[in-house]
Amino acid sequence: MEQTDYDVLIVGSGAGGGAVLWRLCERWGRNGRRIGMVEAGDLLLPTHAHNIPTMNGRRFLRYFQNPKISKPIGRILPQFSGAKQVFALGGRTLFWTAVSPRMPVSETGKWPVTGKEMKLYYSIAEQIMNVTSAYTKGSSITQLLLQRLRENGFPEADDYPVAVDLQTTKYGEIHSNVFFSSINFLAAALNRRPFDLAVMARAVRVHTERGKVTGLQVMSPEKKSYFLKTRRVILSGSTFETPRLLLHSGIQGRSVGHYLANHSFIIATGQISRRELPEVLGTLGILIPQTEVRPYQFQIYGPGTYLWYQPYEEKPLQDVWQIFFQGFGKVESRFENQVFLDPRRQDEYGVPEIQVNFSYSEKDQAVIRQMTKDMQRVASAIGARLISKEGQPPICLNPPGLDFHESGTCRMGDDGSNAAVNRYGEIFGVSGLYVADNSVLPSTGAANPTLTTIALAIRTADYVIRQLK
Ligand SMILES: Cc1cc2nc3c(=O)[nH]c(=O)nc-3n(C[C@H](O)[C@H](O)[C@H](O)COP(=O)(O)OP(=O)(O)OC[C@H]3O[C@@H](n4cnc5c(N)ncnc54)[C@H](O)[C@@H]3O)c2cc1C
Repeated sequence: MEQTDYDVLIVGSGAGGGAVLWRLCERWGRNGRRIGMVEAGDLLLPTHAHNIPTMNGRRFLRYFQNPKISKPIGRILPQFSGAKQVFALGGRTLFWTAVSPRMPVSETGKWPVTGKEMKLYYSIAEQIMNVTSAYTKGSSITQLLLQRLRENGFPEADDYPVAVDLQTTKYGEIHSNVFFSSINFLAAALNRRPFDLAVMARAVRVHTERGKVTGLQVMSPEKKSYFLKTRRVILSGSTFETPRLLLHSGIQGRSVGHYLANHSFIIATGQISRRELPEVLGTLGILIPQTEVRPYQFQIYGPGTYLWYQPYEEKPLQDVWQIFFQGFGKVESRFENQVFLDPRRQDEYGVPEIQVNFSYSEKDQAVIRQMTKDMQRVASAIGARLISKEGQPPICLNPPGLDFHESGTCRMGDDGSNAAVNRYGEIFGVSGLYVADNSVLPSTGAANPTLTTIALAIRTADYVIRQLK
């Protein structure tokens, strides 16, 4: 890769990086443009973990929680102790739950992207990711509990929108790679045209000259340094790693690293009598989206230990089933919630570790209280009894970061004084340097972020293509 002068180099192969790569390859086809991607991690899994038949819920969790697979941010930071990074080809999309709702217009309407464009890019993202609400359709447990919710104060409750390929295999065309991950983006890109990919290649510095990108410095695990020549870099390293790389490269816009947001995240376990349910349960997946008066989203899943139906696992006959509740609350975007470099600690590549300042505001705390009360109402509406586990209250607030929905540290806006990138994802003041990952989201809403990140990443790729015409 050192011998090539790239048109575009992408850093990171997770949700944002995969989306950009796919779109560039799709639109450019076999033209002469040179595209490269560098990924800090190695090839870990060739597909989403749920597509591997031996990964049942229990083994999945054990695998994901292994510290060699998912790593805390910098030092384990008490203020954001739940957060985890996955350094691997595909990033965290190898493990994500794939729940993919759109953000409500009440949220995106405040962003510097028109409603028409959001709609267009949401549709493109949903199509390539196979987002569907049909996953739980026909599951008697979902339909019965949906009916109870709709009749008891939650008319917006609906089946989960999930990124799963439900097409049946026919004429030899195989659709067994059900759960979507960024590896699907890489495959779709590869089928359009060649591109260069380096794994175990850690980007450590973006080089610029007179406000323009000139190249990217990358290091191998042996700490050999490489200079890759390019005029355009797209950073997709995540909400933590992208500002880290920018700050280490001396690119210090006022907002870089600031406005860190996540979702406040509450959980509960409920019990439901088997006798009330039909013989064939199916799988349970319900989403209650945020509304004007409820700045939070609920997800209900089960029955049993894990969200997804495991074809190799038998569901035992038992009188009571457990179901699980999650609530994601909107968190304000505040300047003081911040990712910054710790000058005293460096990683093995000589890059300073990350530190985080994070707290919930008064308003965030009020959302958590309201959401907790409402979760109790949701449980009552479906006839579930919430239970305590290990001496904890029935509804628990998880540590910040455990939602894995962090965003905002390079947020998008029209004003360089409170945003890091412009409406197309380009860093203010550095021509040719773009960001396409969760960090660009201007605000959180309560919806899971990845579909929106992918939609915006595709839009950024289209903008780069227009610039190069
Ligand atoms: C268990 C779990 C369940 C989840 N469920 C959902 C869900 O249901 N719905 C939802 O919307 N979201 C969900 N998420 C969150 C989702 O995975 C993230 O929102 C999404 O992956 C973020 O994309 P990203 O591109 O910002 O970062 P990532 O996907 O984390 O990708 C970042 C990539 O950049 C690479 N990288 C970082 N730094 C460098 C560097 N310096 N040089 C080279 N490469 C680098 C990393 O190795 C990684 O591959 C879940 C996450 C987890 C862990």
